[in-house]
Amino acid sequence: MQTEIAKLREENSELQKSKQTVQKLVRYEWPYLTLEGDNPKVCYCAVCWGKDEKMIQMGRINWDNEQMKLFCSVCDNHCIECNQ
Ligand SMILES: [Zn+2]
Repeated sequence: MQTEIAKLREENSELQKSKQTVQKLVRYEWPYLTLEGDNPKVCYCAVCWGKDEKMIQMGRINWDNEQMKLFCSVCDNHCIECNQ
């Protein structure tokens, strides 16, 4: 019984954490999302978030002169971003 309660408490705090993350979301621009108060250049994979509610930071590489390629190393989600 004790362990059962501890387990439920743990699950509850996990849920609270992901709820806080959702509240912090500022933009959900497929295929990535960014957080309020965070550097807007820091993008997280929207595919991994939708699937497992995991925030996977996307990598950023030079793609072409004015363009950057964002990619997720977990699910191969990627996109090309133009410098604005
Ligand atoms: Zn991903």
